[in-house]
Amino acid sequence: MSKAVTQNSCSYCTPLGASLAFKGIENAITMLHGSQGCATYMRRFLISHFREPIDIASSSFTEETAIFGGGANLHLGLDNLISQYHPELIAVASTCLSETIGDDMNLHIKDYVARKKGESIPFIVPVSTPSYQGSHIEGFYLAVVALVQAFAKGESNPSGPVNVFPGMVSCEDLRYLKEVLKEFDLSYVMVPDYSETLEGGNWEEHHPIPPGGTPIQVLKHTGTARASIEFGQVISDKQSAAKYLAQKHGVTSARIPLPIGIRCTDIFYQTLEEISGKSIPFSLRKNRGRLVDAYGDAHKYVFGKRAVVYGEDDFVLSIASFLLEIGMQLSVCGGSGKGEGFEEKMMQLVNDNHAEVPIIYEGSDFKEIEMAAMEKGADVFIGNSKGYSISRSFDIPLVRVGFPIHDRIGGQRILHLGYKGTLNLLDLITNELIRTKQSLSSVGYSYI
Ligand code: SF4
Repeated sequence: MSKAVTQNSCSYCTPLGASLAFKGIENAITMLHGSQGCATYMRRFLISHFREPIDIASSSFTEETAIFGGGANLHLGLDNLISQYHPELIAVASTCLSETIGDDMNLHIKDYVARKKGESIPFIVPVSTPSYQGSHIEGFYLAVVALVQAFAKGESNPSGPVNVFPGMVSCEDLRYLKEVLKEFDLSYVMVPDYSETLEGGNWEEHHPIPPGGTPIQVLKHTGTARASIEFGQVISDKQSAAKYLAQKHGVTSARIPLPIGIRCTDIFYQTLEEISGKSIPFSLRKNRGRLVDAYGDAHKYVFGKRAVVYGEDDFVLSIASFLLEIGMQLSVCGGSGKGEGFEEKMMQLVNDNHAEVPIIYEGSDFKEIEMAAMEKGADVFIGNSKGYSISRSFDIPLVRVGFPIHDRIGGQRILHLGYKGTLNLLDLITNELIRTKQSLSSVGYSYI
């Protein structure tokens, strides 16, 4: 559906997504090539979700830099970062301003490296992330591709690890994925892994760069991996690290849906079965059984209820697939990215399930979601906390999942993935529907 303007966009700044991805690399720090305001906005945005200190440097553009270029500022910023943080990697992401004036960031970095010849300096990985060309999720994917391009070595090897590109999921999801990979006895390289850097517990002493993340030495093995698993059905080839590794290093790739719901999680575990040669462990099959049982328990509360789902394209696709499994109706599906084929994938899902066709938006904003929800009706909103104002104005409950969650704590600890994560989502959604019905009851009741 075409529109003249965007009102209250569902997508966020592209280098913000890149900054999050770089948090998943050990001893790495991000520098934005642009103004201080961009860095402040992104830090605040990420901190409010993860509740952890997040340092993002900036080359601090001023009016003068915006006219004459930001090379000198970038060089000075790199010097400062090296002397204050001693990082192993500095990831430099461009911003709207530096891209608009056409500043040649890559050339500035080349000049800097040449100037420092003979000195020990960190790796510097640039990534081009103008916000007007994409959303936060595109920035995230582009950062992962830039990392793989910079460090992958060698050719695919059947005894190598498996690469896992999880996309923008919660810290709890990352931890869960690592447990699953262990259950399949698979060595792996996960890119990125911010499960520790953004939720690593209490420290005895301050760490300028929080411990954790994928080590750079390990990143090099992405080229010799036996296979890649990438969660994403609508990632363009340019944004796909798995695609890059397949083309340049011969690593077989499986680009599969985010494992939410039984159908999508089955695909993930079957993929792991094929790669590992090991059948699905008993504990995971047990979890599947519990989930099937819970689908039955929840059925009478969720069946036929209408949901508005929004967020990153792949997230919406997998949540929608799960909702159809439990007998809910999709009312509106709003993808925030410019993913290739989101609408087609959504229509395919709806047709395969013989479900009512929802209103589907690509690159959606909250205004159009609000209008569509009014037209199609809704019992529940499912998505990040930015949908709060519409849910409040409609007086319809909002189940907060995904990213960002700014008006509650614990967004980084929500488990969405696998049978276990689906069970968690099922409980959250069902209980919210029950709570709403209970609070609207004139007599109140304590048994359901
Ligand atoms: S100006 Fe662009 S890069 Fe900076 S915060 Fe805004 S959207 Fe992000």
